[in-house]
Amino acid sequence: MQTVRHSEHTLKTALISKNPELVKQYEQLDPGEQRLLNEAFRPDSDLFGPITLHSPSDWIISHPEAPQDFEEFFSDLHRKSPSPGKQTIYIQCIGLLGNTRSISEEYLKWLKGYCEAFFYGLTVKLLEPIPVSATRCSFRINDSTRNLQIHAGQILTFLKKKKPEDAFCVVGITMIDLYPRDSWNFVFGQASLTEGVGVFSFARYGPDFYSSQYRGRVQRLERKSSRDYAVFDDYCLPEVSSVLLLRSCKTLTHEIGHIFGLRHCQWLACLMQGSNHLEEADLRPLDLCPICLRKLQSAVGFRLRERYKALVRWIDAESTDTPRVTPKHSREELVTLPKPVEAFKEWKEWITRCLAVLQK
Ligand SMILES: [Zn+2]
Ligand SMILES: [Zn+2]
Repeated sequence: MQTVRHSEHTLKTALISKNPELVKQYEQLDPGEQRLLNEAFRPDSDLFGPITLHSPSDWIISHPEAPQDFEEFFSDLHRKSPSPGKQTIYIQCIGLLGNTRSISEEYLKWLKGYCEAFFYGLTVKLLEPIPVSATRCSFRINDSTRNLQIHAGQILTFLKKKKPEDAFCVVGITMIDLYPRDSWNFVFGQASLTEGVGVFSFARYGPDFYSSQYRGRVQRLERKSSRDYAVFDDYCLPEVSSVLLLRSCKTLTHEIGHIFGLRHCQWLACLMQGSNHLEEADLRPLDLCPICLRKLQSAVGFRLRERYKALVRWIDAESTDTPRVTPKHSREELVTLPKPVEAFKEWKEWITRCLAVLQK
């Protein structure tokens, strides 16, 4: 196993920069925040470590990109930042996220809550969930995996038209797999950074997508017209699990991170590392390295302590904060669904250690 190890000096410069303005800005952070961020270049840090490479198909090896340090991020004139009238992240759910409507709604609220903690200080709102048919997008069966796929670019066009006035961005999420064009096999997601819209699929994050047991295979597409979306009505979706929730939270925050102008991280093990395959995505940490954290902090303006505390609160909260309205005549709604956070527990322990450094 190889590691990408940078010198203390390189990491320190990537974090603080040599630009006197930015150095001054850094020195104005409270001592606890500086102490935590400085862990980036502490060689024996047990909070942040080097990127490890596992196979030649890993992102860094197969997609050489220029690294982005804090200064480059800060001075990028083209990146989008939330502004006073545009502070809201909108999430548009397309199709169901679970096998029943109530599971889907609960899942959406968990994701919303997670994004509120992660992008602490911004508002996150859910747009009314819509069926695939509402987007009028093209769809197909994938030739090799035989699952249903919807056209990512057409979803983006749909979301652009729907983007509310006060939106910082609108992100579409779906459990249906995506394809960008006919000749491509699939994409995990697609975004237009300048427009502040993106669409991301969690379809391949279910436990059995790559197994022979996968139940989402469709043999033939029988449709009355190219706009006949009936095939989506009872399409099999992955079972909700802690791992699926963890993967969904990671993907969503990584992708929204790109909309903020954060590029793939090449400094330390970090949520913003690129990933080429599921195994690599799973090895990524849940949260940001100090260099990416400083970027996000400068764009959003949160206090690190408040943000970490909010993440712990989200992991600890059994369910969503909003009390459930139980309609009298619906059996399905009576089922209470505890938030499956087992996969987040090791991260809670990690965040608690970050908080200890902040508060020392
Ligand atoms: Zn990415
Ligand atoms: Zn990073």
